[in-house]
Amino acid sequence: MIKAIVFGCMDYRFQENIQNLLKKYNLNYGDYDLVLIQGGAGNFDQLEKHLITSKKLHNPLEVILTIHEDCGFGSKIKDFNKAISICKNILGKECNISIEYLYK
Ligand SMILES: [Zn+2]
Repeated sequence: MIKAIVFGCMDYRFQENIQNLLKKYNLNYGDYDLVLIQGGAGNFDQLEKHLITSKKLHNPLEVILTIHEDCGFGSKIKDFNKAISICKNILGKECNISIEYLYK
């Protein structure tokens, strides 16, 4: 079991934000699965696939979803709603979900 699974966009402009987020949530190496994909939490297909695998392998206690402004993939802040429902479907209604919208 690990503390968390973290979703972020692959976009180079936001890697520092994501590293800072890991510190904010007190996540150290070995505590989390980190999924950096185009669109971050707004990439629903990949979100679902990675959640299923992470649950099977590492059973994370918490999900941290990020979406950033000006995303080239087209992810928007409203996409958190669907992303949260995907998380609940896969990990259960009681799972702990945090959302973070990242600004440049
Ligand atoms: Zn992006």
